[in-house]
Amino acid sequence: MKDSYDVIVVGAGPAGSFAAATAAAECDALLIEKRQEIGDPVRCAEGISKLGLSKFLQPQTKWIANEVAGARIFAPDGTKIEVSGELAGGEVGYVLERKIFDRDLAKNAARAGADLLVRARATGLITDHDTIKGVKVQHLGEALEIPASVVIAADGVESQVGRWAGINTTLKPKDIESCAQYYMTNVDLLEDSCDFYLGSEAPGGYGWAFPKEHKAGNIGLGVLGSRLDGRRSIDYLDAFVERHFPSGQRIELNVGGAPVSNAVSTTVKPGLMLVGDAAHHTDPITGGGIINALEGGKLAGEVAKEAVRLQDFSLQVLQRYESAWRASFGKTLDRNYRIKEFFVKLSDEDLNKLVHSLEGLTIEEMSVSGLMRRVISRNPRLLMGLRHLF
Ligand SMILES: Cc1cc2nc3c(=O)[nH]c(=O)nc-3n(C[C@H](O)[C@H](O)[C@H](O)COP(=O)(O)OP(=O)(O)OC[C@H]3O[C@@H](n4cnc5c(N)ncnc54)[C@H](O)[C@@H]3O)c2cc1C
Repeated sequence: MKDSYDVIVVGAGPAGSFAAATAAAECDALLIEKRQEIGDPVRCAEGISKLGLSKFLQPQTKWIANEVAGARIFAPDGTKIEVSGELAGGEVGYVLERKIFDRDLAKNAARAGADLLVRARATGLITDHDTIKGVKVQHLGEALEIPASVVIAADGVESQVGRWAGINTTLKPKDIESCAQYYMTNVDLLEDSCDFYLGSEAPGGYGWAFPKEHKAGNIGLGVLGSRLDGRRSIDYLDAFVERHFPSGQRIELNVGGAPVSNAVSTTVKPGLMLVGDAAHHTDPITGGGIINALEGGKLAGEVAKEAVRLQDFSLQVLQRYESAWRASFGKTLDRNYRIKEFFVKLSDEDLNKLVHSLEGLTIEEMSVSGLMRRVISRNPRLLMGLRHLF
């Protein structure tokens, strides 16, 4: 380890590892992770679009547990529609093996020259007036203070690093999905389809079944925090499993939160950038966040390099990161938040109506926009409030 770094990245998820790999190409970078194993436990259904992934990385066979051709969406009454993922803009395509994927991204960062530290928890920031100057770290019982010119906070949902810098990263219950997931075996899944279940089995969210191998996959759901009604997400999940996968056996349980909110009000402070879930960059409709984590990580890594080149870590320079992600996916996040706010109010009856209106069609585009345009055109009255968004 060096005494100080150009860039310290906190959190070795996809956002942090990608940011560290990008920055390390030109700068002294350190990536710290509080867990003892990068990538474990997996708090993710592991679905990712082929197109999205290949925009940032050459997909590796070892990352991919399964490749799916499309998705099925089930209404509360069991009616289903099929969505083909072959055309551009798919939301699913691969079911990843994130334990391997996340580790490989961290290895890429190390290969690019970053130092890596596991069991290293950020406990605070070193500040000078309003400028962030480094990170306080607890590593194997030792308290360290590591100076850095730029800190990239990639510490996930409800980022503490962001909070220490004065950015409100707390999520209101109505803006977070409380998720629970089993990796299960002995389940009858269509092996080339990711399945989504709408309705009050997962109030304000949805259930999912993503196949990873023959008769095994991720079965989970997310319930909006404001709709838990005194129960835990795992209680909803057990009822869901009992209904849809009664013969399934549980191999692994994971619980976690997914932001379905607007992005944090600002993602930059002098000497600091927030990326991935820490910045609330997940899609507010699906809760999916890997792709935006990669993109945000890359953009923040690029801006960190530029700041080091200029030796200017002011808000003015780091603001280029905020402008870049807003230009890329900011509008989609804003629009999808408004759609999510509308959809969480729909009753099971409304959702049945929407799915019935598309029954029998093979929809050949899986993007949220493509699907929404179809749904709106067939349900203009029910979805009048959304028409202006498309
Ligand atoms: C149940 C569930 C299912 C999901 N399914 C999907 C899906 O199918 N597809 C999809 O695209 N997205 C999905 N997501 C969202 C996706 O997992 C996240 O968007 C993605 O992991 C964000 O990456 P990240 O790097 O920002 O954060 P994370 O992957 O959360 O990584 C943050 C890292 O920071 C570390 N950390 C935290 N605090 C500290 C600290 N103080 N010091 C050091 N390290 C710290 C954590 O240990 C962690 O390793 C799902 C989320 C959940 C909860």
